[in-house]
Amino acid sequence: MYADIIVDISHEHLDKTFQYAVPDHLLDKVDIGVMVNVPFGRGNKIITGYVVNLTKQPSYDILKIKDIKEVVVQRVKAIERMIQLAAWLRRNYGSTMNQALKMVIPVKDKIQAKQKKMISLVVSNEEACAAFEQFQKKHAVAMARVIQALINEGKSDVSDIQTKLNITTKTIQALEDKGLVQVETAHIYRNPIKETVLQEEIIELNNQQKEAIHTFIEDYDNEIRKTYLLYGITGSGKTNVYIEMIQHVVNLGKQVIVLIPEIALTFQTVQRFYKRFGDKVSIMNSRMSKGERYDQFKRAMAGEIRIMIGPRSVLFTPFNQLGLIVIDEEHETAYKSEQSPKYHARETAIHIAETMSASVVLGSATPSLESFYRAKQGIYQLMKLDKRATGANLPNIYVEDLRKELNEGNRSILSRRLAAMIDDRLKKHQQVILFLNKRGYAGFISCRSCGKVFKCPHCDISLTHHINPYGNELVCHYCGYRQPEIKECPECGSKYVSGFRAGTQQVEQMLSKTFPKAKILRMDMDTTSKKGSHEAILSSFANHEADILVGTQMIVKGHDFPHVTLVGILAADMSLYVSDYRASERTFQLLVQAAGRAGRAKVPGDVVIQTYTPNHYSIVAAKEQNYEQFYDEEIIFRQMLGYPPIQNILKISISSKNEEALLLACQNMTEWQDNIKNERTVSSMENNLGIRINEKEKIQVTGPIKAPIYKLNDIYTQIVLVKSKDYEILTDFKDKCDMYIKDNVLYKNISVQYDFN
Ligand code: ADP
Ligand code: ZN
Ligand code: ZN
Repeated sequence: MYADIIVDISHEHLDKTFQYAVPDHLLDKVDIGVMVNVPFGRGNKIITGYVVNLTKQPSYDILKIKDIKEVVVQRVKAIERMIQLAAWLRRNYGSTMNQALKMVIPVKDKIQAKQKKMISLVVSNEEACAAFEQFQKKHAVAMARVIQALINEGKSDVSDIQTKLNITTKTIQALEDKGLVQVETAHIYRNPIKETVLQEEIIELNNQQKEAIHTFIEDYDNEIRKTYLLYGITGSGKTNVYIEMIQHVVNLGKQVIVLIPEIALTFQTVQRFYKRFGDKVSIMNSRMSKGERYDQFKRAMAGEIRIMIGPRSVLFTPFNQLGLIVIDEEHETAYKSEQSPKYHARETAIHIAETMSASVVLGSATPSLESFYRAKQGIYQLMKLDKRATGANLPNIYVEDLRKELNEGNRSILSRRLAAMIDDRLKKHQQVILFLNKRGYAGFISCRSCGKVFKCPHCDISLTHHINPYGNELVCHYCGYRQPEIKECPECGSKYVSGFRAGTQQVEQMLSKTFPKAKILRMDMDTTSKKGSHEAILSSFANHEADILVGTQMIVKGHDFPHVTLVGILAADMSLYVSDYRASERTFQLLVQAAGRAGRAKVPGDVVIQTYTPNHYSIVAAKEQNYEQFYDEEIIFRQMLGYPPIQNILKISISSKNEEALLLACQNMTEWQDNIKNERTVSSMENNLGIRINEKEKIQVTGPIKAPIYKLNDIYTQIVLVKSKDYEILTDFKDKCDMYIKDNVLYKNISVQYDFN
């Protein structure tokens, strides 16, 4: 038996594991996660490391592999747990052990964590005021200003004070010498919340909220741990429910992880938790440096933090007494990692909760199909909030048919109704949000006259327009199907066959022409690239410094705009026809969320949805604001085509710079797969590759076939799609595939990546 070992965890060495042999007398003691002592380097210095993997096959010359010296009895539980979690991620999502480890354990920077200096008064306020007057009399302006700032603002960051007031270090030093102030160095555990303790307003919870909380608490006190789906419409007061649940768990001395998508992680949201839990709360975001993440990791391990809030990576907070994981907006795409291992935070949270005996609460106004499906099956417990907590009304929703507009001579991006309504709101001095849902937008092609969308004959997913030097094509992003581009609609003969190409910038220009007096703000990738610009635009709009806000999906979440009485969705089809089996789901979610922006205040708002396909069920259901109606239609589509949550899909991407080598490897892969497929029909015995497949466990393999973007940055990619009802069968398939290519010379310079569902 051989063990892969990482030495000195949380170090750059994490990039690499070292292999050691397990001597016979240690065989039953060595396991993944165990701390061992090993001889290291030329001098065989004894150092500690952690076993991260065990294998029967050595990866090096056996003669050069050293033996593990001993198993260290003292164990670091949190680290052990993280290593096991990494192993689980690798098994379930596919990656190397090192990639998985780096995902769960932050690597310490070589650079020391930045040190922050804080300055505060060491005298009473009266004394400070007296000193201030003295300085003024003596025209010691700089010192006077520092004292004034400290009286007004309390403890402050030295560098902030210096830049804001244009003060030199000498001045600070002089004040320190006079015994008026003190400067202390603090490690930055970056906490975006200032030390202003605000009073939480007392809210009488409504019966639905109380019932959800009561159910949770009763289960919790009876030692029942499970997953709950809190399905509550926008504004139904889900956050208040989470807070009471968290309070209960924290009172029992346990810790809590709260996941909030980064885009919704605003001051407003975070403050609500802070008001209740004060400095028990810590916040992480993706802008934090490696060093800062490492600090938080240590603090959590030391038990200094009770509640950790942040995006998906805070799932890996090494709490020892984890009692609850809350995932707000559980349907968000941001919960899936884009890097290997491409884990999903929801499933990973449920796994972590099981190992730690914690509960999970998923919350959403538009739950993912996966979650609602499981709730219907009784795997998750469903809790409903179907009333707006503040008693505000839901908005009026209009659906405008853009085909009709075109046929009646209106070629503008705005339907006549939307244009008239914008005009009306500008006159009333109310605000408007216009929304261009470009999420995942990849250039679908449709007939603008009859609305026909061109789809893959095999997958029922929109084809994407690809511009090639050898002739433009329509390509299916799932199976790789290709056909030449279409110039004329086969249904109605119209020549208006095209993609919808307007961007936010064009919309902004068009608006300023149509409504010259209106003040317009734009929010998209271009205008928010600078740090803080996102918040700046939102707060400027919230302060009513502009009439119209035009933007992408970024504007849907995070802020309350009480003066907004009109929301326009310029082209609902843009997200409806992206090449993704979740396209309808995303569209429905976006439309509901966007509509949620309109009816916040006492005046009911209006929402205008513009579309070429007004009869599409996701648009009809959004107009009704009826999630379950949408779900019932969508689940049939998933069932018919075998998409999740009914079946699971594993995508294997095989890529290389060398096209010839890639094709050879793929040919080899095909033979290997044929082997498996034949085995399936012949018997349910174990085949020579060790995959057991019986008649009940259906598995369906497509490919390898050219990826939609076959050549990118000089790298060629082919894909294989594997479908099965049983997730385990797919992870087995992946493992066997890994084993198969591991020692296969044909795969020497070829990279293989996995992506589930
Ligand atoms: P959700 O997360 O479900 O969209 P929020 O938790 O943000 O909803 O709540 C929306 C607003 O309703 C918040 O301003 C919140 O303070 C308020 N609210 C929540 N519960 C109640 C209640 N029982 N009575 C009055 N207002 C409430
Ligand atoms: Zn047509
Ligand atoms: Zn297809």
